[in-house]
Order: sequence, then structure tokens, then C-alpha cells
Amino acid sequence: MDLEKTILRKVGAAIGRFRMIREGDRVAVGVSGGKDSLTLLDALLRLRKRAPIPFSVRAFTIEQGKFLASIQPVGEYLRERGVDWTYVEDKPSLGLLEEQPEHGCDVCSRFRRRAVYEIARRLDANVIALGHTADDFCESFLRNAMFTGRISALPPVTWSSRREFRLIRPLVYVTEDLTRRYAAELGAPVIPCGCSQKTGTVRRSLRDILAELEGEHPAIKETLLSAMGRIETGRLLDTRFLDLDGGDVKRDAATEETELVTIDGWN
Ligand code: SF4
Repeated sequence: MDLEKTILRKVGAAIGRFRMIREGDRVAVGVSGGKDSLTLLDALLRLRKRAPIPFSVRAFTIEQGKFLASIQPVGEYLRERGVDWTYVEDKPSLGLLEEQPEHGCDVCSRFRRRAVYEIARRLDANVIALGHTADDFCESFLRNAMFTGRISALPPVTWSSRREFRLIRPLVYVTEDLTRRYAAELGAPVIPCGCSQKTGTVRRSLRDILAELEGEHPAIKETLLSAMGRIETGRLLDTRFLDLDGGDVKRDAATEETELVTIDGWN
């Protein structure tokens, strides 16, 4: 398998399908030091060269005190490749770590979100690209269905409050098996996050379930992603979508195109 071609095809399909990037966009990529965000950045830089519209890409890293080693080798790797990289130590996050070392993901993500918006503003970006992968979408979908009682996952495109930034997740179709191999192929330094919350029990259980199912059904994640794009609303229990009186109901999306097709030259 040509890894680069596969990843660019999947990222291009996501960008085209969900209109993630538009003419003149200034995209800021959050580089966390992991394989996913490095793959995302590399894919966007390559796609930029052949995309049907002009857009710019820059990278940033926010230090929240959770990297297991210095992030500087990532910065050096990026700068050597001519990438515009900005590094910011987020003082409030570092303070939080000292004052409440056992804090959970909710407060940590809130601090990170504020820091991300601040830096995106400084970089004059209007789009923020996030490195959530197909695995994250599948886990989120299963977690919500099984533990919060909702059919929902992550939005591939959404907006910050007041619509200041478009937030995009171009790795929606890219699994972590691919990002792991791609980051290794790139020779990019991967600096892991040492946060103890990262391997919460629910997350670990869902990863184990998916990994076990994948043994017998290798396309299980693709199937789950396909399911997220083909909602048969008339076969669920949400009365907003049920034809209880024989009147008008919202049309379900079961017949919508979900294949990774070529879109406007993006892939
Ligand atoms: S896993 Fe750790 S670093 Fe990640 S959001 Fe949760 S608390 Fe923050």
C-alpha cells in the first residue's frame, strides 16, 4: 500500500465532502507532538500544493505541561522543513497542573480551547485543524451510544462560538494504524503525552472491543464511519423523525453518498 497516497486520498475526500477548506483560508494546525497531528500537518502541506484553491497552513503547539519530553525536537523537525511553527507555554494550564494535579479532561480541554483560540487569533488564522482520527470518531460514537444514551460522535466541521473560527477534523477517515505507520515513515519525532487520564477505563474498553472485532472484521471502523453518514431516522426511537400520524417527517439520509469519491480535485 502506498501510505502517502492512501492518506492524501482520505484527507482529500474529507476536505471535499465536508467543505472543510475554502478559498483563501488561513489554516492553523495544532501539533500535539503525536503521530496524528504530525500526519495531519504533513497531509495538509502536501495537499496545498495541488489543491484547486489557494490556502495557507501554519502549525502551533501549546505546552500544558503534559509532554513526556521536550517538544523542541518536533519544532526543529518542522522548521527544517520550512513549516511556520509557533510554540506557546500556556501559563494557566501549567498553574492548573500545580494547583489541581488530578484535574479531569473537561477542565483541561477548556483551558486548551481558550489557549488554542488565543494563538489562532495571534496567527491570524480563520480555520483550526484538529487531529482527531477515524478511531476517535468510532470511539466517540460508541461511547455516546453506550454510556450517554445519544446517537452522536464528533462534528467533522464546526464553529467556535460567535463563528470566529471554523474547526475542522480532516483525519475523520484516517485510522491510527495509518498515522502510526506514516509518522514512522516520515521519521518525525513523536513526543508522547504522559497524562494519566489518557487511558481511562471506558476508552480502553472501547479500544479493546474495536481491536478484537477488527481481527475478524478488518473494515469495522470504515463500516462505523459509514453508519454515521447514513442515518435511518425512521428506524430509531426519536419521535421527531417517526411517522406517528402518517404526516410529513424529516427525510432520512440512508441513501446519501458515503463512498470516498473524488471531489473537485481534492484527492
Ligand atoms: S487526556 Fe490528559 S491531556 Fe488529554 S484532555 Fe484529558 S486531562 Fe487533558
